[in-house]
This record gives sequence, C-alpha cells and structure tokens, in this order.
Amino acid sequence: MTFTGAATVVADAVSERLALPPHVFVDGAAVPAAAGGELAVLDPASGRRIGTAARGGAGDVDRAVRAAAREFRSGAAWRTMTPLERGKVLHRIGDAILDRADEFAELEVLDAGKVRGAARSIDVDFAARAFHYFAGWPTKIVGSTVPTSHPGIHIATEKEPVGVVGAITAWNFPLLLCGWKLAPALAAGCTVVLKPSEETPHSALWLAELAIEAGLPAGVLNVVPGRGAEAGQALVDHPLVDKITFTGSTAVGKQIASRAADGVKRVTLELGGKSANIIFADADLDAAVEGSAGGLFWHSGQTCSAPSRLFVHRSVHDEVVTRLRSIADGLRPGHGLNDGTELGPLVNAAQQAKVAGHVSLAREQGAGVHVGADVPVEGFFHPATILSGARDEMDCATEEIFGPVLTVLPFDGTDEVLRRADASEYGLAAGVWTRDVGTAHRATKALRAGTVYVNGWGLTDPAAPFGGFRQSGYGRDLGPDSLESYLETKSVWTFHG
Ligand code: NAD
Repeated sequence: MTFTGAATVVADAVSERLALPPHVFVDGAAVPAAAGGELAVLDPASGRRIGTAARGGAGDVDRAVRAAAREFRSGAAWRTMTPLERGKVLHRIGDAILDRADEFAELEVLDAGKVRGAARSIDVDFAARAFHYFAGWPTKIVGSTVPTSHPGIHIATEKEPVGVVGAITAWNFPLLLCGWKLAPALAAGCTVVLKPSEETPHSALWLAELAIEAGLPAGVLNVVPGRGAEAGQALVDHPLVDKITFTGSTAVGKQIASRAADGVKRVTLELGGKSANIIFADADLDAAVEGSAGGLFWHSGQTCSAPSRLFVHRSVHDEVVTRLRSIADGLRPGHGLNDGTELGPLVNAAQQAKVAGHVSLAREQGAGVHVGADVPVEGFFHPATILSGARDEMDCATEEIFGPVLTVLPFDGTDEVLRRADASEYGLAAGVWTRDVGTAHRATKALRAGTVYVNGWGLTDPAAPFGGFRQSGYGRDLGPDSLESYLETKSVWTFHG
C-alpha cells in the first residue's frame, strides 16, 4: 500500500492491520463493537483515511471490565501464575514489540503523524524497554514485618495488586504509553482495560493480540477504542474499576479525577505542561541551542514535556534567537515515512487550527514571529516557528500550544529567572544549561517540576519516575513509584498468645 505524499510502501503486516474490520479486543478476542459504531482514522500527513476503528461504547467497556474483573479474582490464571512466570510473560511482550519494531514504527507514523526514525528509536524502543524493565519486578514485590509493641502479636504487611485498572491514553505516544501504563500494572498483578485515543487505536489493538501470544491469559488485557466522552467516561464510571491511570490534557484530567472520586477510585494523572528551559550566559551554546530546539521540534512539539518556554540570558539572547531561526528554516517537513523528513504534521485539523490560533494571538499581542521552512499544503502541518520579544503573561508564554512553536524570553539575573520560570500552573519538566555546578544545583532545587534536566533534554528511562507537579498531574509513570501506585498495602495481624 502506498500513501499520498509518501514515497514508501509500508510493510504487508501494517497494511493488513489497517485493513482489519473495526474491532474491540475483549477477553482474548477481536470482536466488533456492540453497537457497531465506527470512527475514521486519518493519516495526519495527508489528511486521508487510512483505516476504520471501532467506536466502542458503554456496552463494550462493561464486557471488557467484567472480563478483567473475572481474571483478577483469586484463583484466576494471572493471579495464580508465579511471579517468575509473570515476569517472563512481560519480557516476551517486550520482545514481541522489538520483533515487529519496523512495522510498529510505520503504524505510529501513519496513525499519529510521526517521523519514522523517531518512532522506531523512541516510541517502539521505549515501549519495549518498559516491558523489559517491569518484567524484573514481580519477583521483587515484598512486604515487611512491623516492629509491634503488642506482646504475642505478629504483624506483617503484604503488597497486593490494586485490582482492575482503567488506562486512558493520549494520541501523541500511542504505543509508548501502552508500555508506561500496562507494564507496571501487569507486573503488580492487576488486570487492565485500555482505552487508547480515538485518533491512534491501531498499535494498542495489535499489542493486545501479541500479549496473548506471549502467554498473557485472556481477559487480563482488554482494549476498547472509542471516544473519550463515550468509552472513556464509561470506563471511569464503571463500578468494577479500581484505579484509573490517565495521560492526556489537564482539562480532561480534572474531569476524570472528579468523576473517579465518586467511586473513591485510585487515580494517576499525567497531564499537560509548559516547561521552562533556561540558557544561562555561561552555557555551551552549541549544545544548548541544539538540545533546546531538538527537545521542542521533535514530533512537531506534540510532547507533554516540550521545552516550550525558553528563557535566555540577555547577553546571548540575540545570538540564540538567530541560531534557533536558522534551525527552524532548515528543518525538512514532509511525510514521516520519507527518508530525510525532520518535521512531521500535527495530529489533526483541530490541532492545526489551535496551533495557528496561538501564533496569530502572539502576533496580535506583539511577539516577533519567525516562520521556518514551508510545509506541505496537504495534511495537517504547521511550520517550525520561533516567537521572540514575548512577555511572561502572554498566551504563548503560559498556554500549552502543543505544536512546533517556541517562545523565547530574555532574562538578566539568576533569582529573577528562577522566579519567572517557576511562575507557571504546570510543573512537568524544566531544564537548565550552564557550566556552573552551583547554578545548576540552585536551579534544580528551585524549579518545581517532576523532571529537571541539566545540560540536556527529553530522555526518559523506565527506571526513572516521570510525572508532574501542580496541574501537570499527580502520581508517576515508570520506576518503582509507578509500580507502587498499582499496589495496595495489607496489614496482617496474627495473635499467637
Ligand atoms: P485529551 O485529554 O483530549 O485525551 C486523552 C484521552 O482521554 C483520549 O483517549 C481521550 O479519548 C480521552 N478522553 C477525553 N475526554 C474524556 C472523558 N470525558 N472521560 C474519559 N476519557 C476522556 O488529550 P490528547 O489531546 O489526546 O493529548 C494531548 C495532551 O496529553 C496534552 O495536554 C499533553 O501534554 C498530554 N500528555 C501528557 C503526558 C504526560 O506524561 N504528562 C504524556 C503525553 C501527553
């Protein structure tokens, strides 16, 4: 199959996945959605329809949750599998992703508008790494003994899986977020119903099938694609769901937290950001400019931790802006399947209009707007854009734009910039570029964000917790903190006289 605007023919396996009839994946089988509804899936680089997804609804969610609840009960296969065997299953799921790495990368390019190289080296690789990392955990989940002051009593704590997890994910990292959500939940012994974004359902559905082949019992992982207000809301409201883990916008995260409160469900929220990135006067400017531009422009700025608020010391400000403009001019836009493409599209027409609206408003409010290389007319592209001469209170310095738009703000002093950088309702990531270790330490203490980078930007590691302060959310994906959020602690008292 060839795709408009793309020179490349995709793998047969990808064409086959896209041609499958719309389905949900419940209790180990791909079946049509109960109400039969469908959603068009578009290639963001052409705007053309590439597939059709099931429009799952409350009935599908109910079937999926009941299968997951059945499999969570003690005596069911996943609960009784030894920790060593559970770890092996997770490891095999990671291997299955890597065995089809090129195909998964192509699927992500077509569903989410990614660039092939980044899809392969980041989305696919990091999804597999999450399964490989958490595969080591089932054998290491331990309780403790409690030093009680009661004579004749033994108290121990045990760690138990929280139960049925409802996972709801965003379109910007469809497969990677499966790794971040599913791997720790399954390692803890939970069962899961996943609702991927309606924009990007294909990789999650494929992964669920591969997980069964890897030895995951039917019903442990179920996938119901559909709209947020339908399948998503039904999952949040379902009485048999014990925990919701959500990645998406702050606005939707707030609604989910408030609805989940009704059932006293555990909630993890990975939300939006407007991350501050500071280039001090003594920074290695080559590294700082490359790293800052790369951190912002890859995936066309559609990353939650994008360093979209760049503070630059006034003494190097003009030089940095000149270099950033030149990078924006040189980025090659195009279809993500084509060799040499560096800037892909935005995910859909609504996002394209939203980003354009933010840039128009910045212009009206007096920012200097530098527009980089021309982008294709077909598809949902937006050119790489540098906004300079902005002020902290402007929309472009406070709102998450989620596009290839970088706002640059000059500063004079260290206290001043740390105060300004921290004056945000978000707190997902932050960064500093400096050769002075004292400045670096001061900044990492002062910046309230879940991740702070020093002289670099954007890497994640399955062992390093990732998440937000303030309105960027609560709880963590990845690392031991994430695993803990899928566990309950039970105190067991034994009276032995
Ligand atoms: P979104 O909030 O619109 O949608 C996210 C998911 O929630 C989708 O699956 C959607 O269908 C579902 N949803 C929507 N309304 C719902 C409702 N009422 N009830 C239940 N589910 C509902 O977000 P998006 O546009 O898909 O993704 C972009 C956002 O995600 C950005 O704000 C970005 O910063 C954020 N994000 C955060 C992280 C992180 O780790 N912090 C990672 C990736 C993306």
